[in-house]
Amino acid sequence: MRVTVLGAGVAGLACAVELAERGAAVELLERASGLEAAGCSWYAGGMLAPWCELESSEPLIARLGAEGMEWWQRRFPSTAINGTLVIAHGRDTAELRQFGRRTSQFETLATSAIGLLEPELADRFSTALYFPDEGHLDPRAALAALLARARELGVGVRFGVEGDSRPLAGRELLDCTGLAARRVHADLRGVRGEMLLLKAPEVALSRPVRVLHPRMPVYVVPRGEGVYMVGASMLESDGERRISARSLLELLAAAYALHPAFGEAELLETGTGVRAAFTDNLPRIRRVGGVLYVNGLYRHGFLLAPALARRAAQALLEGRHFAEVMDEDPRQRRLA
Ligand SMILES: Cc1cc2nc3c(=O)[nH]c(=O)nc-3n(C[C@H](O)[C@H](O)[C@H](O)COP(=O)(O)OP(=O)(O)OC[C@H]3O[C@@H](n4cnc5c(N)ncnc54)[C@H](O)[C@@H]3O)c2cc1C
Repeated sequence: MRVTVLGAGVAGLACAVELAERGAAVELLERASGLEAAGCSWYAGGMLAPWCELESSEPLIARLGAEGMEWWQRRFPSTAINGTLVIAHGRDTAELRQFGRRTSQFETLATSAIGLLEPELADRFSTALYFPDEGHLDPRAALAALLARARELGVGVRFGVEGDSRPLAGRELLDCTGLAARRVHADLRGVRGEMLLLKAPEVALSRPVRVLHPRMPVYVVPRGEGVYMVGASMLESDGERRISARSLLELLAAAYALHPAFGEAELLETGTGVRAAFTDNLPRIRRVGGVLYVNGLYRHGFLLAPALARRAAQALLEGRHFAEVMDEDPRQRRLA
């Protein structure tokens, strides 16, 4: 089977790799000139956190996400599975209890156990939730690795080519164009996320740390060599404008409150990505007019891409139907 995939974000790259591994002849078209100029995926935190996400997501997200961990480890061996630490400052401990009530697969840690995992946080927090089976990756390196893998499998990749979603004779078309697919899906919206990259060689954290806060929960994800991603806002907006002063202040304040050495950090980059989400914040694989669409990955794109790519490939190559992501009726999706 010949397949054209549109969009080289994490969804399009994962689908191209999965299809090519299953023997399809794949071409991948991306309208931007390179990965760094492309979509939302470039700005992600890279957390693979199915059980933490239960705090604000449906169980389907955890189920699909848990399926993806091994996929990432096989295709991107630098994926670290060393857990997530969730903490709250003294005045926000009610948030931590609430987080624990909504999630699963964690251990509650006291100061000494926090110190064994992250020595630099030992005396700063009296309690934490630890999700040992979660992971993280550097999204930019992971996208590059998927691109290299796709090329190795013979996928013809063309940057700077804007595909259109008219069905092509003799080819299947798989549209992974994120928010741009709004032209077809009226129920797709943008949720802007702002982030920073800090260089703080004095800080030594080895796993994502989520700092709970009633207004803006913040996370810090280590990228190696003293670099940390700090994210992220969730704004109901599709504006591409740069980070606001308020978000910048809040992200920096949260990082500084987590570890004072972030006060000396070098601000390497600020960035904004717009997440594509359906009204129920659940992903869809949808067929419209002969084209298969994979979209609505919202705040879970890296987490969900493997499970969605697997299902999209099986839908195209074997005609399979996956009710949990292909049925529009939410009851069908829940029963699936
Ligand atoms: C600040 C922030 C932090 C995040 N952190 C995490 C996280 O820790 N973990 C996680 O799992 N997820 C995270 N996410 C969510 C994740 O980034 C998204 O869910 C994911 O990137 C969506 O991927 P996508 O491939 O669907 O879309 P995109 O990455 O937007 O890719 C769509 C691509 O299609 C291209 N395109 C558009 N139209 C066309 C066309 N006509 N022809 C060809 N190409 C086209 C675009 O240029 C773009 O490259 C985060 C998001 C943000 C903004």
